[in-house]
Amino acid sequence: MAVTADLLIRARRAVTGDADQAERPLAVGVIDGRVVAVEPLADSGLSGRDTLELGEDVVLLPGLVDSHVHVCEPGHTEWEGFASATRAAAAGGVTTLVDMPLDSVPATVTADALAAKRRAADGQCHVDVGFWGGVIPGNTPELEPLARAGVAGFKCFLADSGAPDFPPVDAAQLTAALRALAPLGRPLLVHAESARAAAATGAYAGRGYAGYLASNPRGVENLAVAEVIEAARATGGHAHIVHLSSSDALPMIASAQREGVRLTAETCPHYLTLTAEEIGDGETACKCSPPVREAANRELLWAGLRDRVLAMVVSDHSPCTVPMKAPEVGDFGAAWGGISSLQLGLPLTWTQARRRGIGLAQVAAWMSAAPARLAGLTAKGRIAAGYDADFCVLAPEESLVVDPGQLHHRHPATTPYAGRGLYGVVRLTLLRGQAVDPGRPRGKLLRRTQ
Ligand SMILES: [Zn+2]
Repeated sequence: MAVTADLLIRARRAVTGDADQAERPLAVGVIDGRVVAVEPLADSGLSGRDTLELGEDVVLLPGLVDSHVHVCEPGHTEWEGFASATRAAAAGGVTTLVDMPLDSVPATVTADALAAKRRAADGQCHVDVGFWGGVIPGNTPELEPLARAGVAGFKCFLADSGAPDFPPVDAAQLTAALRALAPLGRPLLVHAESARAAAATGAYAGRGYAGYLASNPRGVENLAVAEVIEAARATGGHAHIVHLSSSDALPMIASAQREGVRLTAETCPHYLTLTAEEIGDGETACKCSPPVREAANRELLWAGLRDRVLAMVVSDHSPCTVPMKAPEVGDFGAAWGGISSLQLGLPLTWTQARRRGIGLAQVAAWMSAAPARLAGLTAKGRIAAGYDADFCVLAPEESLVVDPGQLHHRHPATTPYAGRGLYGVVRLTLLRGQAVDPGRPRGKLLRRTQ
């Protein structure tokens, strides 16, 4: 190519977001914030006004796309806000996040509420931000206006969400929502825990992790996943299971996928890292819903990723204040169920992947390309001509010890990972061809158009 790029990246090691393309040396040309050419480094004739030379110690990845983030602003900005969340994202190599429709006030269940979210986010985002809309009982007339206003898709719960303004739907309402969304070309993300099964097991109060886990058995998830599958089968709508923890559900998800049901699923760094055996009594920092399960379950989730039954790894960054985790009493019943890990998703997942002999090409496919596809972000998640020049430069063999003082989300003391040794230091995050500058937020608010 004869033209001079604004930026030429010469990477000895690069992965593109395609799991089948091994790590290799690439030259990447960027003009006006977009990738214009990707060539083998050895044969490249690309030139650039600026050149970023990357050595053997770092790998160029597509910027991560985290499609499962609860920002909580407006309304619960004391839990988390757009400025702090997107700063944490950028520090973790995430260049796009998609905000969940609950935990803010208003919840994103009407087009007006989406407009309020966008006003709150405007001008303070360090990375690009998209939005999911919400499906709650009775808001079917709002789905088309929300889709037209650019939500990436929709999210619903099958059990209590913990937010009174975001009630769950029942099986009939789930089916109706999938039927309404199919012609709009938007996925329905489902928090798959069964209200009926959860009511039967009852709530747990106390410090014991075993007790908390026993009150949230795999069956609560399994029953809900089965309902989601049949609703997707009956309607032809695209259902996506968020934060799968129960490995029991993998065979039925695989079976439905083989049969052509439009069904995808994700899991999260905490289910791939933590184990019930290691969580001490009173360690409410590790509480999330569904819960972290046994080590054997964790291995089966890794197998589900390898077998491509699970398509992606996203954070489910679900922030809260320190007192909401009830750290003094350590009561699993009282504590907020959610883990804040936006900044650590890549090193957590990479540390576990590396231990299992899985390379960064695959990790980038799980953490960049697949979530971008789910959210319909056609210019995100891959290093290829025509895509946004969003990159993460990672030193994969450099280790770190998690220091809450280095975390940028609003309440770093809520992290369950303090003191944990990890591999993978994010050296640089580029958004549309420029390094993210904490003093100058350049993130755009994205609208899905197709
Ligand atoms: Zn969530």
